[in-house]
Amino acid sequence: MIELDDRRRRIRDDARVFVREEVLPVAAELDPRGEDMPWSLVDRLGELGYLGATVPEEHGGLGFGMVDYCILIEELARGWLSVASVVGRGNRILEEVLDTDELRRRYLPRIARGELICAFALSEAEAGSDVANVACRAVETADGWRIVGEKRWCGFAWRADAILLFARTDDPPADAPHRGISAFLIEKDRESFPEGLSGTPIDKIGYHGLTTWELTFDGLALPSEALMGERGEAFYGVMAGLDRKRVYTAARAVGLARGALEDALAYATQREQFDHQLADFQSIRFMLADMATSVEAARALTLAAADALDRGGRVDREAAMAKLFATEVAERVTRDGMQIHGGNGYISATPAQRYWRDARLTTIFEGTSEIQRRIIADRLVEDGLG
Ligand SMILES: Cc1cc2nc3c(=O)[nH]c(=O)nc-3n(C[C@H](O)[C@H](O)[C@H](O)COP(=O)(O)OP(=O)(O)OC[C@H]3O[C@@H](n4cnc5c(N)ncnc54)[C@H](O)[C@@H]3O)c2cc1C
Repeated sequence: MIELDDRRRRIRDDARVFVREEVLPVAAELDPRGEDMPWSLVDRLGELGYLGATVPEEHGGLGFGMVDYCILIEELARGWLSVASVVGRGNRILEEVLDTDELRRRYLPRIARGELICAFALSEAEAGSDVANVACRAVETADGWRIVGEKRWCGFAWRADAILLFARTDDPPADAPHRGISAFLIEKDRESFPEGLSGTPIDKIGYHGLTTWELTFDGLALPSEALMGERGEAFYGVMAGLDRKRVYTAARAVGLARGALEDALAYATQREQFDHQLADFQSIRFMLADMATSVEAARALTLAAADALDRGGRVDREAAMAKLFATEVAERVTRDGMQIHGGNGYISATPAQRYWRDARLTTIFEGTSEIQRRIIADRLVEDGLG
């Protein structure tokens, strides 16, 4: 088990109290109805500094490193996956594109104050695992850009203060399809789409609390300064950002798995059948033992990858391993949590099924398990065991 120092224990414990008192009751009420989280909860995330947790202190944030951040994210996801995901729409989302001091001074304090929650529009119908296949176009005009095309799976797009859009500005050479993609920041009012952009919500089986959108760009006009970073070179930043997102997603998965374990343990010691607690049956005890062991292992791998990120250098293999392992653990542990609840695990009033529906997604978004295996295998074949 990883020993946390006093500061990190405080991060964990403060978040745990917040989740118990302010997140779990909201999730219990709204998730069964498939509703978005209330603004009052988003505001609380801002007040606690969580929306800008990784923003350096000099810009008004909490100055969290990746290990600190993963500790926080595990706690928030234990409450409700979408709450951890909204926090991820402040922290670090713009990191790769804020490449000058002037941009950092302009945007980071707003992120730290919770005033710049940013949706992430990369995926398209034909650009999912194959992210380089972006077809949405940004055409240069006399005074800026016009955006034409579609994006799919954009979470929080309508409510967000801004959308980070990846669009093709230049045709790529045949042997390098990842070139020619640029990043744009679309600033907008909350709960609206600007002229030239419309959206349709996507109906999902889980991940409630945060609506996911299909976006249509029909000539949206952007000023020149909406282009972030170097024209045509955004792919590299996307890939670097994905390493961080994968570790953060591993932490989200650990949170879900821990929720399933905690609830299953409580249920197994309270419910009786055949005049015995469920926890007296060896099959249930072994299931709990495997769940607890898996959660510990997933957390250890996640924090090790987070630590590697904090230390710098290439971490694609570590990030992929953490994402693969923690999300597949979450799927198994949440399934077993439901099983221990019997029929009560299958009803909306019991969170066991929510953890399972949400954990199912973690093996798909931010790169599927198959893509993580590809990355790990590529690195093994190229570099050996390291
Ligand atoms: C609820 C939800 C929220 C999301 N939120 C966002 C968001 O906010 N912003 C955003 O940009 N994106 C978002 N995504 C998109 C998400 O990242 C993609 O769905 C994911 O990357 C997979 O892409 P795909 O759905 O096109 O699947 P596909 O790429 O079509 O994959 C289908 C299957 O084929 C497998 N496969 C594909 N290529 C290979 C290969 N080379 N080798 C082996 N197997 C392969 C996959 O592993 C998978 O099993 C979200 C998705 C969902 C479902």
